[in-house]
Parts: sequence; structure tokens; C-alpha cells
Amino acid sequence: LKDEVDRMERLSLVGQMAASITHEIRNPMAVIRGFIQLLNERSAVDQQSYFRIVLDELDRANAIINDFLSLAQNRIVQKESGNLHDLLNDVIPLIWADANMRGQVFEAKLCDNMDMLELNSKEIKQLILNLARNGMEAMNDKGVLRIETLNFEDTIQLRVIDSGVGISKEKQERLFEPFYTTKANGTGLGLPLCLSIVERHNGKIHVESVLGQGTTIIVSFCKPGRNCW
Ligand code: ADP
Ligand code: MG
Repeated sequence: LKDEVDRMERLSLVGQMAASITHEIRNPMAVIRGFIQLLNERSAVDQQSYFRIVLDELDRANAIINDFLSLAQNRIVQKESGNLHDLLNDVIPLIWADANMRGQVFEAKLCDNMDMLELNSKEIKQLILNLARNGMEAMNDKGVLRIETLNFEDTIQLRVIDSGVGISKEKQERLFEPFYTTKANGTGLGLPLCLSIVERHNGKIHVESVLGQGTTIIVSFCKPGRNCW
């Protein structure tokens, strides 16, 4: 009986997920359909902006599908002993280039000695990039994005700090809800994905934010063999 209940719960979860992704993909589809129709009717002057919108919405539908798949796959990932700094060194050039294009400043302050963790490199890189992108998207061209690492007795911390708009208390409670987004082209799947990655790595994620001043996202990883929480 328990197996049967488990199976029903899984099926109903799949149903709920299918319903929400269907809804989310229909939005960009409706926009694309509307603008294609307009393209058929309107003069050539409007066409360029309509094409832009259609392409943006296609990209958004694609991003939703990609993020959703990563989230839904919630699979047992292979982890290997690895150094967080090695992964950071792989993604920092990408973040730096992105910040540069936005006219923002990027800084990294990595601690002197980094202990090994059990990591899935692909997932941790995805985590870092997602958090960094959120930070950059919260700032104008005067913003500063900073990544720090700290090596404590039992835990290793990764901090992603931005000087952006900040997040109100009410918003903070919804951050990890799938599809919660305040961005026109957001998916609302970035932070849910980050949370599931952190949980798969025996980690915790905390948000500290002051409205109008900025946000710090703190990810704590428990070192192998330690009792952290
Ligand atoms: P998306 O980035 O696609 O909107 P996320 O799950 O990554 O989805 O983030 C959800 C929402 O949380 C964002 O739309 C934004 O409102 C808020 N948010 C996330 N990170 C930050 C940040 N560093 N500063 C301000 N708001 C943030
Ligand atoms: Mg995001």
C-alpha cells in the first residue's frame, strides 16, 4: 500500500508540474502568436521591434524549458572530491565578461586555504552563475558584484554580494517558489534550482538584504564527515 501511495503522490506531483510548465510556456507562445499576426498586418516600420519581441519570447520559452528540466531531473548526481576555487576559477571569467558588458564592477575575494568538498562540478558552476546573474540583474551600471569564499571549521561559505535594489521581507519569502519572478523575461526557476543544488550538496542557503542597498546570498557547504546542522 505504501508503494501505491508513493506512486500516486509522484504522479500527482508530475501532474502539478506539467500544469505549471504548460501555463508558463503558453504565455510566451501567446505573445509570439500575437506579434506574428501583427507582423502580417502592420507596416514595415514596426517590424523590427516585433521581430525582437518574438525572438525574446522564444528565448524565454527556451530558458523555461531548460531550467525546468534541470529542476525536474532532481536526480541523484555524481559527486567527486573537488575544490570550490577550481570551479570558481572556471566561471569567474564568464561572470567578469558579463559584468563588463553591463558596465558593472566585478570583484572576487577567495580565502587563502580552501578545503575539499564533495561536489558535482556542473551543478556548482550552474549555482554560481545563477546567483551571479541575479546579482547583476538587480543592479544598474554603477553596481558592484562581489564573490567571496570563507573557510570555517566545519563549513565553507560562498557569498555572492550585490549592491542592487535589495529584496523586501515579503519578497524574500517567495524567492524559492518555482516560477516566482519580478522580471519581464525571467523564468522564476533560477533560485528553486539553486536551492535544489545546494540541498543535494548538504548545504544551506541564506539571504541577507537591505532594500535599496543590496543583497548577499550565502551558501554554506558542510565539509565531508562534519556534523553541521
Ligand atoms: P528570475 O531571475 O528568472 O526572475 P530567480 O528564481 O532567479 O528567477 O529569482 C526570482 C526573483 O527573486 C527575481 O525575479 C527577483 O525579483 C528576486 N531576486 C533574486 N535574486 C535577487 C537579487 N540578488 N537582488 C534582488 N532581487 C533578487
Ligand atoms: Mg535568476
